[in-house]
Amino acid sequence: MIKVKNLSKTYVKNKALDNVSFSISEGEILGFLGPNGAGKSTTMNIITGYLSSDSGSVEINGKDIMEEPAAVKKMIGYLPEQPPLYNDMTVEKYLEFMFKLKKVRLPMKEHISKICEDVKISDVRNRIIKNLSKGYRQRVGLAQALLGDPKVLILDEPTVGLDPEQIIEIRRLIRDLGKDHTIILSSHLLSEVQAVCDKIIIINHGKIAAQGLTSDMTHTGSATHRLDIIVEGRRQTVHSLLSKVDGVVAVNDIGECEKGCFEFTVESSRDVRRLIFRAAAKTDLCILSMKPVAVSLEDTYLSIITGKAEEENNNVSDI
Ligand code: ADP
Ligand code: MG
Repeated sequence: MIKVKNLSKTYVKNKALDNVSFSISEGEILGFLGPNGAGKSTTMNIITGYLSSDSGSVEINGKDIMEEPAAVKKMIGYLPEQPPLYNDMTVEKYLEFMFKLKKVRLPMKEHISKICEDVKISDVRNRIIKNLSKGYRQRVGLAQALLGDPKVLILDEPTVGLDPEQIIEIRRLIRDLGKDHTIILSSHLLSEVQAVCDKIIIINHGKIAAQGLTSDMTHTGSATHRLDIIVEGRRQTVHSLLSKVDGVVAVNDIGECEKGCFEFTVESSRDVRRLIFRAAAKTDLCILSMKPVAVSLEDTYLSIITGKAEEENNNVSDI
């Protein structure tokens, strides 16, 4: 449904996006997660046609944004980081104004009433926008994005600056909208994408660092595994045996825990317990203990944004 291929973008000398590709199927909620300056807004501005890329393409329902910008824009509802609100208008006048600007061809009054009900702003329709709370203003921004019934919603950090209660409300609203929309939502908060999204893409320094299903990322059996292991034998032999096992990306020497027994932590891209067992048995090393340690998505995200993962593994990791 949405195909983003090899997007790159440089602002003067600053490479904001470097060969970003991903796709999203109809009805999915995709979380675009990354620290400030990662390239989230740049990507969203390109997908929505507000910014051109230096190279690469964006296709929505088979239509290319560069070739058919008007047709593609009609399929997308966009809530930018700074919602385009006219503060001196009432909510109703503003939505009517945007309805006309977008040249929506639906019965205006009914359409706006339905959207106001859906995003729960019917009670403030006659209020001036500048007098609304930030939470309500954000919902007015969402209402604007829903004008014309677009099937795709692009929401750039929709909960920034809201208080906890408003955040819960907006997240609930987004999950509801996710039942009949395809949504890309950006956030710098791991907990937010975990709470709302089916799929997560982690972006850092303009590159995709990891991607996967949220459900795969939250249980222990994710692709990043860690084992605590105690082996009896020569320290150097044990270290090199563990390092050579297929799938192992790092072996850390913790130290001697009993005489002649050494503790290591082993990080791997998959479950390597059986391989380690067989390799040790072959070389007559005795495994005294082997304990999987849960690696949370938080660990993965932190290691990516602090640069640890990049040094260890230059490839995109499937979380
Ligand atoms: P995010 O939304 O993830 O915080 P952005 O896409 O806004 O990241 O920014 C990515 C990088 O591009 C950052 O280094 C930012 O400083 C830079 N950048 C964004 N917009 C501009 C611009 N209009 N001119 C120059 N640099 C920009
Ligand atoms: Mg941004």
